[in-house]
Amino acid sequence: PPSPRPPGLPTSLPYPDVPVGSILAGAARRYGDRVAFRHAGEELTFSQVWEQACRFATALGRHGLERGDVVALHLPNCPAFPVAYYGTLLAGATFSPVNPLLPPRALADQLADCGARVVVTHGRVAESLRDIDVDLVVTVSPRETDALDFDRFVAEAPPTRPEVEIDPRTDLAHLGYTGGTTGRSKGVRLTHRNVVVNALQYACWGSGGVPSLDDSGDVTVIQIGDDAEWPSRLGTGATLNLTPWFHAMGLGGLNIGVLSGTSVTIHDRFDPRAYVADAERLGVTTLSGAPALYAALVKCEDFHTADLSSVRALSSGAAPMPTVLGEALLARFPDAVLSEGYGLTEATMGVTANPSWRSGTRKVGTVGVPLFDTEVRIVAVDGDPERDTLPPNTPGEVCVRGPQVMQGYHNRPEETAAVLDHGWLRTGDIGMLDDDGFLSIVDRKKDVLLYKGYNVYPRELEELLLALPDVASAAVVGRPVTEVGELPVAFVVPSPRADDVTAESILTAVNAQVPPYKRLREVHFVDAIPVSGAGKVLKRQLRERLR
Ligand code: AMP
Repeated sequence: PPSPRPPGLPTSLPYPDVPVGSILAGAARRYGDRVAFRHAGEELTFSQVWEQACRFATALGRHGLERGDVVALHLPNCPAFPVAYYGTLLAGATFSPVNPLLPPRALADQLADCGARVVVTHGRVAESLRDIDVDLVVTVSPRETDALDFDRFVAEAPPTRPEVEIDPRTDLAHLGYTGGTTGRSKGVRLTHRNVVVNALQYACWGSGGVPSLDDSGDVTVIQIGDDAEWPSRLGTGATLNLTPWFHAMGLGGLNIGVLSGTSVTIHDRFDPRAYVADAERLGVTTLSGAPALYAALVKCEDFHTADLSSVRALSSGAAPMPTVLGEALLARFPDAVLSEGYGLTEATMGVTANPSWRSGTRKVGTVGVPLFDTEVRIVAVDGDPERDTLPPNTPGEVCVRGPQVMQGYHNRPEETAAVLDHGWLRTGDIGMLDDDGFLSIVDRKKDVLLYKGYNVYPRELEELLLALPDVASAAVVGRPVTEVGELPVAFVVPSPRADDVTAESILTAVNAQVPPYKRLREVHFVDAIPVSGAGKVLKRQLRERLR
C-alpha cells in the first residue's frame, strides 16, 4: 500500500558496516563540547563520554575481558550508564541490561542466563552473586564494599580507543531481556548491525538525514531534507529523559540522541511539576516517553501555563496512546509534530513511526508507517507470512521483516523458531493496516479475550472508557468463566472531578456503544493502574487481583 515517505530522502538508506561504538566516536568529533548528559548537577559533554568510555573499555581489557564476553549493567539511568554501555561495546564485549529494581535473587538468575562475566551495579549485590560465576563487580555506589569503585575503575585506565576487531554483522552488541509482562523473560540477541541500523532509521526519519561516514570512518547523520520541514535539527536538540535505558525503547533513544547530538537531562523520578519546570528552564525541544508520562503531564496545571514554546516535537511509544490523549497534546502544542511509533525488543527497538516532518500526514491513534527498509504484513494468526496475508482494515498478527530484526532468543531454539519464520518476525501483536499503509495496534495476542468464540479486544473498551469524562485511567482484562470463555472486566481510576460516578454509570455509557458480545461486565475502582518502569500496563497483576 502507498505510504508517506520523507520528502527528499531515499526510500532505502545506506547503512555503513560499523560497530555501535562508532556512533559515539562520530558524535564526540562532531558535537564535542555540547552537553550530552546532565544529571543532578553533573554534566558530561560528548567528548567526555567518549574519553571515559574508552577508559572503561581499556580497563575491561586489562581485567582480561575478551571479545564476546558479556557485561551486565544493573544501573538506573545516570551518566555512568552510557560510559559503561559504549565502553563495553568498544571493548568488543556484549552488553546485557538488567532492570535496576530487580532484587538480588532475580538479578542472579538473569546473570546466570546471559553468562555475564562482569556486572556494573548500584546496589548491594556481591553477597547474592557468590554462587554464580562472575569475574568482576564494579559499582557506582560507595555502599557496596565488595566491589570495585566505578570512578576509580575508569580513571585508572588510559583513554585510548581499543583496537579490537568487531564484525558488526555477527558480533552480538546487546543481549536484552524482554519485559516478561506476558511470560518469562527471554534474552534477545542483537548484533552491532541491528543496533546501528535501527538508530539510523529513527535518527534519519526524525531529522531528514542520511547516514554518512566522517573523515575517520565513524558514522554520523547528514541532514539533506528541507530545514523548514523537519523541526528537529541535528545538534540543536534538548530533551528530558525518564525512559529506562535497560529497556529497548530507552536504549534506542540513547543511541538516537547521541547520533543526533541531543542534550539529555536525566530525571530520576517522574514529578510532573519538576519535569515541566526543567522543560521550560532548559528550553527543551523534544518530549519523549510512554503514554503514561503524557497522561500525567496533561493533568498537571503547570504543563498548561509554563512557556514551553521551545517544544517542537513529541514522540511516544511502548504502549498505545489513547486517542483522547493524542488530541489533548495536539491542542497544547498546535505547531509541534506528534509522532507515535511502535516496536519491540525483538526488533531492536522500533518498526514504525508517524511522519516527523511538517507536511507529513500523521494519524493519531495509529503507530504510523514502516521505517526505511522495513516491511510490515498482517497475517492470519498462526498463518504463513508469505501466503496468509490479510487485506487492509482486517486485524491479524503483525509480522515484521527488516535489518533491525533480532538473530533469535538466547539459548531458546524452540521459542526462536516459534517467532522467526523466513526472516519474518511474528510480533505477537494484533494489528491492521489501513488503505494508506498506517498500522494500528489492536491489542496483544495474549491479551485478546475470547467470548463464545468471538474476539474481544480490551484495547477497544479501554479507548471507550478513556473517552468518558469521569475516567482518568483504565485497563480491561478477562475474568475466566468456564461456559463462555472470558468476560471483560474494567479497572478504573475515576477523575478527581467525578463525584457521582458509579460502576453502573460507566457500564451503561460503554455498553451503549458496543455489540452484546463485547459488553463490559464489571467495573472496579482503583487508585492507580499498575504500570511497569517502561510504561506498560501490568495486566498480569490485574488478572491476579481478579482471582
Ligand atoms: P517491549 O519488547 O518490552 O518493548 O514490548 C513490546 C510490546 O509493546 C509490543 O509487542 C506491543 O505489544 C507494545 N507496544 C509498543 N509500542 C506500542 C504502541 N505504540 N502501541 C501499542 N502497543 C505498543
